[in-house]
Amino acid sequence: KGLLKMKGICILGSTGSIGVNTLDVVARHPDLYRVVALTANNNLDRLYEQCLRFHPPYVVLRGEPQAEELRARLSAAGLPRIQVLSGAKSLEDVAVLPEVDCVMAAIVGAAGLLPTLAAARAGKTVFLANKEALVMSGQLFMAEIAKSGAKLLPIDSEHNAIFQCMPADYKAGQSASGVRRILLTASGGPFLRTALDELDDVTPDQAVAHPNWVMGRKISVDSATMMNKGLEVIEACLLFNMPPERVQVVVHRQSVIHSLVEYVDGTLLAQMGSPDMRIPIAHALAWPKRFESGAEPLDLFAVRQLDFEAPNEARFPCLSLAYEAVRAAGTMPAVLNAANEVAVASFLDLKIRFTHIPEIIRHCMTTIAPEPADTIEAVLEADRIARLAAESYVNRLAER
Ligand code: NAD
Ligand code: MG
Repeated sequence: KGLLKMKGICILGSTGSIGVNTLDVVARHPDLYRVVALTANNNLDRLYEQCLRFHPPYVVLRGEPQAEELRARLSAAGLPRIQVLSGAKSLEDVAVLPEVDCVMAAIVGAAGLLPTLAAARAGKTVFLANKEALVMSGQLFMAEIAKSGAKLLPIDSEHNAIFQCMPADYKAGQSASGVRRILLTASGGPFLRTALDELDDVTPDQAVAHPNWVMGRKISVDSATMMNKGLEVIEACLLFNMPPERVQVVVHRQSVIHSLVEYVDGTLLAQMGSPDMRIPIAHALAWPKRFESGAEPLDLFAVRQLDFEAPNEARFPCLSLAYEAVRAAGTMPAVLNAANEVAVASFLDLKIRFTHIPEIIRHCMTTIAPEPADTIEAVLEADRIARLAAESYVNRLAER
């Protein structure tokens, strides 16, 4: 073990749900992983605690006043050598440091795109949780991975499950030989059985109360609308080089099977486990080996039964919108993602109703034409235009 080179890790979004779970796994393997950089939007207290525990040489906060405060606290604590940086550009800088071997992309939303892309370009091993970054940049991101030869390991539990069910020598982005379909499981979220006419009045607190997983607020709302599954369909098409008609969503209430791969001979391979993100995180961090994650093993006798059903498109229009976006191609997935980010934030801010979320996204997708997504500038421009369109639609809804 002593002969293995210790790996340096940069965790983009270390204070979030995925970030905290990643540090929990890293702390179990101090002989294999060394924390080089941690970044946060504005959770200064949690980032400070992480500094005391992991002594990263670099940390990044979004705003300079907060960075200034963290510097003061760290010097008072006797840790003045931790470099505290601020701003979006610093996220890219720490992601490509020479002492960084791998980057956990765990920022939520479009804010994670540029640092994740920078890590891919620099040939770092990318642990990808930030699905919005991949949905936006699509083939562009996959091309950067291929060009630099970077390793790409999915963290999203479904995609990690699919990766584990792929042939042993499989690399993300390739087309897998012998695979007929991907079956992407979905819990159905908190509103799977809610009467359709009650959805107009559900609150943010009801929407973020996920039955099986504890996650950040944005992805929890996405799970309630099933846009999370929609983004994951697009993510699966890109990661596994599959057309959308070969990615089937399967509602599976227990969240025990995390997804399946169907082979041409009729074999179905599934990956199962407790709903604990430390399992896919540990899988990616140890790959191609295995190590402990801290998760409880699944008790099949307690699970007893596994249920499956087809998704109801009338209940979950966001799922169909995602299929439409991936078929429209070009910058349309970036438009879908940006409109969704604005709509979800507006719902969490109590500006719009839950059922307005798909309405806003549909409005943006019908009024904005897709452009070729062949440069990062084109992707960022589509993101910008869609946000403007979504915001003005939100304002119109608020005035009603
Ligand atoms: P979260 O809200 O708990 O954490 C988000 C992190 O990103 C925080 O550290 C925050 O400080 C940082 N951040 C937010 N906005 C930022 C900005 N503008 N600039 C810089 N940093 C910013 O979210 P999460 O649940 O951990 O999810 C993170 C990503 O992982 C999302 O893309 C989500 O879809 C994906 N994911 C999460 C889970 C899960 O179980 N939580 C599962 C699968 C995929
Ligand atoms: Mg998922």
